[in-house]
Amino acid sequence: MTKMNIKMIQKAIEQFEFEISKEFSFIDENPKMKEFYDLAINALKKQIPMKVRSPIDANGQYNKLVIYCYSCGKTVRDMKYCYNCGQRLDWEI
Ligand SMILES: [Zn+2]
Repeated sequence: MTKMNIKMIQKAIEQFEFEISKEFSFIDENPKMKEFYDLAINALKKQIPMKVRSPIDANGQYNKLVIYCYSCGKTVRDMKYCYNCGQRLDWEI
């Protein structure tokens, strides 16, 4: 995914969050829409790559043998998206 696409996704998330948070939002008239917007926002957030993490061992060093999804905490290996939560993963160190 290009940086341009990620910026567009971030702008869309910001706009949707603004639309449902502002005073006199159309959401107030139709509470079901808030659920739909939250679903869309969460789905969009999963598209923005999130860096994978490694736990810190007893010596204060990163244990690179274990890599996990920072979104849900499940261990991941060589996958573009987390198998558990669907988060797009960024493997760059
Ligand atoms: Zn995950």
